[in-house]
Order: sequence, then structure tokens, then C-alpha cells
Amino acid sequence: AIEDHQLVLHYQPKLTFQETGQAIESVEALVRWQHPQWGLVMPDRFIPIAEQSGLILPLTDLVARLAVEQLAQWDAEGIHLTAAVNLAPQLLNRLELPDRFSALADEYDIDRHRLMLEITESAAMADTGRTMDILARCRLKGMGVSIDDFGTGYSSLVALCRMPFNELKIDKSLVIELHKSEEAKLIVRSIVELAHNLGLSVCAEGTETPEAVNFVRACGCKSTQGYYVSKPLPADALKAFILARN
Ligand code: C2E
Ligand code: CA
Ligand code: CA
Repeated sequence: AIEDHQLVLHYQPKLTFQETGQAIESVEALVRWQHPQWGLVMPDRFIPIAEQSGLILPLTDLVARLAVEQLAQWDAEGIHLTAAVNLAPQLLNRLELPDRFSALADEYDIDRHRLMLEITESAAMADTGRTMDILARCRLKGMGVSIDDFGTGYSSLVALCRMPFNELKIDKSLVIELHKSEEAKLIVRSIVELAHNLGLSVCAEGTETPEAVNFVRACGCKSTQGYYVSKPLPADALKAFILARN
């Protein structure tokens, strides 16, 4: 699939709350396999296989390249966005990756801070020393880092406190429960407070209704990503979506 150019990216917009209003300033790049017979295959079906077969590194290199290329393309069309790319747990020991990604951004004349890397909470906490090394290198190179799927793993607060993340993304499993669970509300509020105390901005993932968007906004989240705003879209549809919104 990698060699045959069958991997494509969809981009899910992230809505950033502003004092008055809101704006789309960033997207998350999510990979799909456009298979000639099977149609569009979702990442949950093939990322685990790529992780086990040693192909996750070339896959991630390709995803980062396609995302940066797309940012440059949108720039040329007058749309200026930031893109986030997911880093699999197996890649946290690849200390050369921050160099590779920053060189890629330079190659396409994209400010490095417009490339964010997402690392899941459970991956980040599995070996905190290793995570610190790669995070520090990303930050030194000028890229941003998010702790993804937060609230599902078990963070050491001491470790979290020391890690130089820029952003925390609250896992969708919590956000999806908001309408029916007081416990979920309590947990989301507490995570936002914790994140703010650590100097992190917060994105709530999985907002599917206007009520959920309003709740996370009222809690102090800086941004949200979910089906209510938009599902992940192909690049041209994302562009149309942004132009229509503005
Ligand atoms: P993720 O990083 O947590 O990405 C968000 C997933 O949540 C996406 O699924 C997105 O479509 C879905 N989602 C967003 N908003 C909502 C919502 O409101 N409700 C619900 N129910 N779901 C929502 P997708 O695209 O199927 O990706 C699944 C996972 O595959 C991603 O989870 C990520 O862990 C992994 N993945 C995708 N692309 C890559 C990649 O390039 N590299 C690696 N290592 N993993 C990737
Ligand atoms: Ca992610
Ligand atoms: Ca996530």
C-alpha cells in the first residue's frame, strides 16, 4: 500500500474557541488505505499490523510528508493551518524522528510549529524516560506535542508534570458520556483544571452534539474535535468546508 500510493490522509478539523466566536486553525491527519477491491479501509484495521510488521516507521514518514505537502498546498490556496500527526508507541525510541520531521517542514517552507505530534497517554507513560527524550527533541526543534487519548491510561502525575507537552487531548470515550454521566462531567472538569495548572491547552475529542461542544467550552477547553464540527474529510472537502464556514 505504501509503495503503491494507496495510503491517503483525511483531515479532521479542530475548532478553536476564541473570546468572541471560533475558528478552524488546525487539523489532525488520519490515514486511510484506499484499497482497489476493499474500498476505504480505516486505520484501526491496519495500523496494528503496520506496528507489528515493522512498517509503522515508513508509514509514519509517509503520513508526515503527505501532511506537510498538504499544508504547503493549502498555503498556496490561501488557507493556513496547523497539522497534527500521530506517533505510534513503537516510534518513541526513534530519536531521529524529530530531526526528520523538522527537516521535512523546512523542505516545504512550513514553520515547524505548524507540525504537531500526538502521543497517546498510555504510550507516553509506558517508559517516561524515553518519552522525555523524544519530547525534548521535538520541542527543541520547534514542533508541538500533544498527549492524546488522555483519561484512559494511568498517568503518573509526577511524570506528567515534568513532560513538556503543549496540549492535552481528552479521550472521546469520556466526552461521549457527558450527556448522561455526572461522573464524566466531573472527570472532564478535573482534567481541564489539572491541564491548566500544568500550563497545557486542552482539546476535547469526540464532541458529537452542540451540548457537548458548549459544555467543554464552558469548562475552559481551548478547542474541540468531533463529529458535531466535522468528521475527517479528504483534503478538497476540508478546503470547501473551511471556505463555506468563513
Ligand atoms: P485518534 O488519534 O484518537 O483519532 C481520532 C479518531 O476519533 C478518528 O478515528 C476520528 O474519526 C474519531 N472521531 C473524531 N471525532 C469523533 C466523534 O465525535 N465521535 C466518534 N465516535 N469518533 C470520533 P479514525 O480516523 O478511525 O482513527 C482511529 C485511530 O487510528 C486514531 O485515533 C489513531 O490512533 C490511529 N491513526 C490514524 N492515523 C494514524 C497514523 O497516521 N499513525 C498512527 N500511528 N495512528 C493513526
Ligand atoms: Ca490522535
Ligand atoms: Ca485521540
